[in-house]
Amino acid sequence: DAHFDSVVPRAQRVTGDGAPAVQAIGVQKRFGSLHVLKGVDMTVMPGTVTVILGPSGSGKSTFLRLINQLETLSGGRIAVDGELVGYRPVTRHGEECLQALNEKEIARQREKLGMVFQRFNLFPHKTALENVMEAPVHVAKESKSTAREEAINELTRVGLAERLDYYPAQLSGGQQQRVAIARALAMKPEIMLFDEPTSALDPELVGEVLGVMRSLADGGMTMIVVTHEIGFAREVGDQIVFMNGGVVVEKGGPEILDNPTEQRFKDFLNHVL
Ligand code: ADP
Ligand code: MG
Repeated sequence: DAHFDSVVPRAQRVTGDGAPAVQAIGVQKRFGSLHVLKGVDMTVMPGTVTVILGPSGSGKSTFLRLINQLETLSGGRIAVDGELVGYRPVTRHGEECLQALNEKEIARQREKLGMVFQRFNLFPHKTALENVMEAPVHVAKESKSTAREEAINELTRVGLAERLDYYPAQLSGGQQQRVAIARALAMKPEIMLFDEPTSALDPELVGEVLGVMRSLADGGMTMIVVTHEIGFAREVGDQIVFMNGGVVVEKGGPEILDNPTEQRFKDFLNHVL
């Protein structure tokens, strides 16, 4: 992709040792004439939790999807674990430029990331255990016995050891979402991305899912969480990022939730609280 090197900012280096778990620099995304992300910068250090807040349509999901290469960048750079996402730096005629990775290389990069969506998307005809075993067996080519053992571990970790053989329809929304988290963890990701994981749940089921996420964070998992749960953000977030209109309006430690600077952020917090 020779066109790409003309749009990346060259000022900052995003690769190398001691690198952030995720670093975004000047990230842009366009869908046709719709300019959705207009230069997003974000640094996520290993073992930390970043919570992204913002009104609907501000580009939060698109940003997570770019990290996980479910979308391609229109400009800027993202590095995961010190490695550029989707591209390899090469020297051509003495100049550094970027070469697009092939599908296999992209798949290998994506294995570092686990993603949990608002809708759980479990296979309805498979049990909880079979749902969690699916990718380790069919994608990672693990033996069934190894995958089964690990799936039981992951389901135990999310509090579902007693529900291994239940089908999604026999589980509550909160239990289904915990299966979805176990399914992502079964691929041993270094970083977990959560896109409004509790937004589709009945209010009484939100706590059990946030509890699992909190224990993951306590265990040192690097996480980026899009949510409207301000209590979770305050208690679990190391970094809070408020996005609006495709840009980062304000970011800082959880104290900014109680002391926002930007008017747009104040208005948002007044609405969700
Ligand atoms: P958020 O998650 O903050 O609600 P999104 O990232 O889902 O925001 O969407 C930001 C904007 O991008 C919205 O206007 C949405 O309609 C648009 N958008 C998202 N995905 C696509 C797509 N695949 N094609 C066209 N427009 C899209
Ligand atoms: Mg969204």
